[in-house]
Amino acid sequence: MLKKFLKEVITIVVGKNAEEIVEFLDTKKHVNEFIISKKLDLTINQTRNILYKISDQGLVSSIRKKDKRKGWYTYFWKIEVLKSLEFLRNDLMKKIEQLENQVRSRETKRFYVCDTCHIEITEENALSNNFTCNECGSIFVFKDNTKILKEMKRALEKLKNDLGLVDNEISIESKKVEVGKMKVINKEEKEKKKVRETKRLERKVVRDKLKKAAGKTKKKTPAKKSKKVDKKKKPKSKSKSAKKPKSKTLKRKSKAKGKK
Ligand SMILES: [Zn+2]
Repeated sequence: MLKKFLKEVITIVVGKNAEEIVEFLDTKKHVNEFIISKKLDLTINQTRNILYKISDQGLVSSIRKKDKRKGWYTYFWKIEVLKSLEFLRNDLMKKIEQLENQVRSRETKRFYVCDTCHIEITEENALSNNFTCNECGSIFVFKDNTKILKEMKRALEKLKNDLGLVDNEISIESKKVEVGKMKVINKEEKEKKKVRETKRLERKVVRDKLKKAAGKTKKKTPAKKSKKVDKKKKPKSKSKSAKKPKSKTLKRKSKAKGKK
């Protein structure tokens, strides 16, 4: 169903003969434009023209890579499924609105027709022309709208049904995008955790080395070395010693008050 809708989008944007491009654009990774052109059996320029038309509507995304030897850029493309579905949704809504207006018009107005030229005209215009066709002089006859109304309503039904199906695909695709985003976030979190853990271990190694060094040189300069170790220890015990600075500031405040 999704592929059918994507092909419909390409048909609207570029034309029916380009719809096959969906087969090579509906992928997870961006696809080399030369591969697309080869598979479509089109020249690279013809292929790019199609891609640019879709791109103008914002329905494909691209990345470029520089060929180190030749120095030119090759583009890689991929269809944006959610945006394409939303484009189709808008198109369907427009068509539904137009058709609904036509149905309303058929239901409320009377139409006349020239059987020779097949020209259709509203009753108002027929009246001002004395019910005579400008082209051939025939007399306009009343047009029965029953049949055409039935056709229009059937078409309207189909469009509305399609809209429901597209909405369904949109919600499926939105969930996919959401899951993809979460995956990226989780991956980033894991990476951050990893970095934090490595840093923690590195600090531990440094601390241990310093401790060892302090133990060895304790006899020579005990005061200086132990101070250094304390400084290194501080970040870890920040939360524990959080109370201390508070009491200090309180003292300072009370001192300031006393001065006033
Ligand atoms: Zn006529």
